[in-house]
Amino acid sequence: MHELSIAQEIIEISEQYLPQENTVPVKSVKLKIGKLSNVCVDSLQFCFKLLTENSSLRNAELIVQIIPVRIKCSQCNKEVELEENIICCPDCGSYDVSIINGLELYIDELELDDEMELNK
Ligand SMILES: [Zn+2]
Repeated sequence: MHELSIAQEIIEISEQYLPQENTVPVKSVKLKIGKLSNVCVDSLQFCFKLLTENSSLRNAELIVQIIPVRIKCSQCNKEVELEENIICCPDCGSYDVSIINGLELYIDELELDDEMELNK
């Protein structure tokens, strides 16, 4: 499953960012996912919960922000945000476009819960 490996990767990256011997629980992990990245957010949430159960990320909430698709048309030079996942210029109908946003997948922010100590 695609989402399982993504969840795994998110956890690994998050753990790298955490201070060593971190005793503060992670409150949330904020993700930005492009609309075109083909990630099923529901299964990602599910996998994340499953994989973090026994880690320092347990109880962390995965907050996903979907990034809309933006393209730049090579024909008419317009930059537009697309409603549909059809990669075509809505203005002139050209398929000769480059994708500016919509394929990303990255961690935007890690929020630590500094009001609570982690009970190991
Ligand atoms: Zn165009």
